[in-house]
Amino acid sequence: MHLISFFLAVLVFAQHAWSLPAEIGRESALDVTLSQIGNTRIKAVVKNIGQEEVTFVHLNFFRDSAPVKKVVVYQNNAEVTFEGIKRRIKLQGLTANALTTLGVGKTIEDVFDIAATTDLSHGGSLMLHSSGSVPLVRDGVVFGHVPYRSNRLKIEVNADKASQIVKAIPTLERRTRVTCDNTTLKQQLTDALRETSSLAAAAANAARNGSADKFMEYFKTANDSVRAVVAARLDAVAREANSTTSATTYYCSDEYGYCESNVLAYTIPARNAIANCGIYYSYLPELSRSCHYQDRATTSLHEFTHAPGVYSPGTEDLGYGYAASTALQSREAVMNADTYALYANGKMRPSFP
Ligand SMILES: [Zn+2]
Repeated sequence: MHLISFFLAVLVFAQHAWSLPAEIGRESALDVTLSQIGNTRIKAVVKNIGQEEVTFVHLNFFRDSAPVKKVVVYQNNAEVTFEGIKRRIKLQGLTANALTTLGVGKTIEDVFDIAATTDLSHGGSLMLHSSGSVPLVRDGVVFGHVPYRSNRLKIEVNADKASQIVKAIPTLERRTRVTCDNTTLKQQLTDALRETSSLAAAAANAARNGSADKFMEYFKTANDSVRAVVAARLDAVAREANSTTSATTYYCSDEYGYCESNVLAYTIPARNAIANCGIYYSYLPELSRSCHYQDRATTSLHEFTHAPGVYSPGTEDLGYGYAASTALQSREAVMNADTYALYANGKMRPSFP
């Protein structure tokens, strides 16, 4: 059913999926050195190798205390399924607890256990790698991004020891698709998902039949097969948000306990589970009237694209916000969650530059 997306994924993989986006951050760059300090315990040293001090969001990056994807784990040239979370952050009004400042030549360290977020019970040879970009922040506002890239670390894992590591995410019982004990939040979420559905449906239509220039602005190509893949994913999101399918479980609040200030919502792709944080309701409008601003509808759209049960393979967070997302190459943009959210939001306003 998702044959085109499968081929695209293979293509992406073959051409080093985790390559750096175009460097609009000019002189800025972070170098990551991965090393093995235990069976499945990994140390990352992040060094500012650019020419200026940088302040960036460390959520979804090293030093995030939640089980986020810090490295991609490969075995036999295929990615081992990631079982942790992806967190969506706000792009304005960011507070210090989400930020790290790193002077030129300075380093930070992080130690984490990959067995907590990947099933390594079979053990064997693995290859770890990490690359992408993190949002740069000035006065609490994301204004750009800084690329990072790690060495390729080969490790041997002992299966028995790996099996003893407790998984980060507990198993929760699935109740209903929108799972919520609070009637006010449930209503607000239901309303937002209705908007998500119509936005996604309109965006799918635009991807299929709308302006080639607009599509090119976000996805960096006007190729028909890419347009078809984007449209198919957006159609799947529209159906899912409209509850006509139920691949996902959507929690109206922090069911798994990974919210904190600056986090809007998160997805656990391996569980097809999505959860909203408090500021999803208190900080975000249901539907933004400004282009490329965050709102509830596009935040949920972003999260749905991460869930492989909605459309496989699920997207990654390769670029965050308009500047980082539109700096990606086409094959990355098609796999980037925020590109879909921004396209759905931006295509409604043709006058926007
Ligand atoms: Zn995301």
